[in-house]
Amino acid sequence: MLKIAIYGKGGIGKSTTSSNISAALSEMGLRVMQIGCDPKADSTTNLCAGKPVNTVLNMLREKGDEIALADIVKEGYNGVLCVEAGGPTPGIGCAGRGIITAFDKLEELGAYEIYQPDVVLYDVLGDVVCGGFAMPIRGGYAEHVFVVSSGEKMAIYAAANIALAIKNFKGRGYAKMQGIILNARNVANEIELVNELAQEIETKVTRVLPRSASVQEAEEKGQTVIEALPDSEMADEYRALVKQIMEVCEYVPESLCLK
Ligand code: ATP
Ligand code: MG
Repeated sequence: MLKIAIYGKGGIGKSTTSSNISAALSEMGLRVMQIGCDPKADSTTNLCAGKPVNTVLNMLREKGDEIALADIVKEGYNGVLCVEAGGPTPGIGCAGRGIITAFDKLEELGAYEIYQPDVVLYDVLGDVVCGGFAMPIRGGYAEHVFVVSSGEKMAIYAAANIALAIKNFKGRGYAKMQGIILNARNVANEIELVNELAQEIETKVTRVLPRSASVQEAEEKGQTVIEALPDSEMADEYRALVKQIMEVCEYVPESLCLK
């Protein structure tokens, strides 16, 4: 099982990129589970025809011990398994603790054994403000981390912070920083700036994704680019990104070996 966490500054394009990665993986015949770790719970919307998914925390509040996997795992585009951790009632409770509760519940219900995904993708906020947001990298959940960044100062700052958080857990067998996905905002010297960041945090730029109007066009339909515009250049960009991710993580899917 390939377990990846996608981190990055708020609004940088984590959910868009994650959803397109999931969709592209599903096209290859792989079973993918995407877990949104943002209290906004909008990570998987474009995999589910623009409709929100019931969050683990909401369903827990509603159903308590009666909660079942079917309440919190929704099959989206091409069979991608969509999960949203959800968040606490605004102003009350802690989002980080919420993520931990949601992860525990998924394990307790046997989500990984039952669905047996080839790939699990965690879509996580880049502001690693507390243990909850660091959970995918330190709890043995994700093994590989990619950070989405543009050349903007705050995106670079967040990426450096994530690298630092990973470094702090290094040596304990936890997640490894595998690269930066440059999601272009077309700022001046963007590629140079992000290459500098990569050097600084001792990683590489996995791929440069261009800024593309196809993303908005697909989003308006509540879909990924892979689904809405499969023949577009941007869809091929995401497919190429997936190939590079698999290469960097040295991942050869078992289920494809058997076919
Ligand atoms: P949040 O931290 O709020 O969850 P996020 O990092 O998940 O945000 P997204 O919601 O994926 O970010 O993207 C923010 C906006 O940027 C979206 O409206 C999306 O359409 C746009 N966007 C993302 N990537 C691209 C791209 N390569 N080209 C054009 N627009 C993009
Ligand atoms: Mg998001």
